[in-house]
Amino acid sequence: MIQKQFGSSGFGDCSIATVAGLMFFLTDIDKMAKASKREYVWLECKECGQRNYRTEVSVAQGTPKIELSKFCKSERKHTVHKIRRK
Ligand SMILES: [Zn+2]
Repeated sequence: MIQKQFGSSGFGDCSIATVAGLMFFLTDIDKMAKASKREYVWLECKECGQRNYRTEVSVAQGTPKIELSKFCKSERKHTVHKIRRK
């Protein structure tokens, strides 16, 4: 029954090319992910040192010195958060 459906629509023929293209596409993404070094880091509150957020940054040129104003849960206000590698 399934074979008959594939045969009549012609989907069986073009799906092979689609799968091959998708496989190539996924392999490409994998290569790109490895080329650009990305790492999970903590966003640490500068005032109380509480690590409130987890984020992903590019560390290709070393750890980026990014400071963000984020809401600190323990202080219940916005404070400067800096990146802290694990
Ligand atoms: Zn804080």
